[in-house]
Amino acid sequence: MSLNIISLASGSSGNSTIIFTDDTAIMIDSGLTAREIKNRLNMCNFSPKQINGVILTHAHKDHYRSVGTLSKKFDIKIYTEEETYNTILTKDNKNMLSKIETVYETPYRIGDIEIVMFSVSHGITIPAGKPIGLLFINNEKKIGYITDLGYVTDEIKEILKGCNKIFIEANYDEKIIKRKLSDKKYNSQWWYLKWVMSNMGHLSNEQCADALSDMVTEKTEEIFLAHISQNHQDPDMDNNNFDLASDHVKYILKKNGKHVPKIYKTYRKGRDKTWNPVKGSF
Ligand SMILES: [Zn+2]
Ligand SMILES: [Zn+2]
Repeated sequence: MSLNIISLASGSSGNSTIIFTDDTAIMIDSGLTAREIKNRLNMCNFSPKQINGVILTHAHKDHYRSVGTLSKKFDIKIYTEEETYNTILTKDNKNMLSKIETVYETPYRIGDIEIVMFSVSHGITIPAGKPIGLLFINNEKKIGYITDLGYVTDEIKEILKGCNKIFIEANYDEKIIKRKLSDKKYNSQWWYLKWVMSNMGHLSNEQCADALSDMVTEKTEEIFLAHISQNHQDPDMDNNNFDLASDHVKYILKKNGKHVPKIYKTYRKGRDKTWNPVKGSF
């Protein structure tokens, strides 16, 4: 078995993803409750005890929510940037992170998985510590991981070019947000939406598709569209949906003469208990 990925959930209600081989399992972010993570791992025949470490990408609650509980309960190491750790402590001590003695720097390798870490542009208005994106390598296979970033630099595109699987956010649709910004009904969200669109916010469908057309090669088998801003309790809050995002990605890839990999939906669907984690194929 080679390098694979499972999205337990992705979106503003909580993010958690597993990257694994036969020997090693790494969790990226722990934004669901510990109980929900355990349930979702069970659905994929995993137990929390198999997780070799949790890497936190940044200090937003939808990414770190249960990391303290999970680490304490199952003795899992936490890896993150010092600045991210300190920011979490200033925001929230209920997640037990303050009771954990050691938080480690993200290593170059966990088990048989090599890890490349790079900075991404995200936060400020809502402090995020030092946000990172990730590349995982095992036996020539590569998985790229970028969510929560305002734009994709040329350097990031170069790092993730030709990955076998790419996990990337398509947070909002530009037309939807622009319409909301000129509609009084969304006045209370005006600053938040401005931040989402900024270079320190999130990627739009358009930015996601443009970045993918520089990163996808014949080697790229699967794309996971992540952190889609869709609210299942109130559709008026939606800044995007999966069909819009995937149609746009397909359109841009075809237009630029690229092959179109399989595209997966990754978000957590409200309280829908029939929703399953999304697993890449081998
Ligand atoms: Zn997020
Ligand atoms: Zn964030």
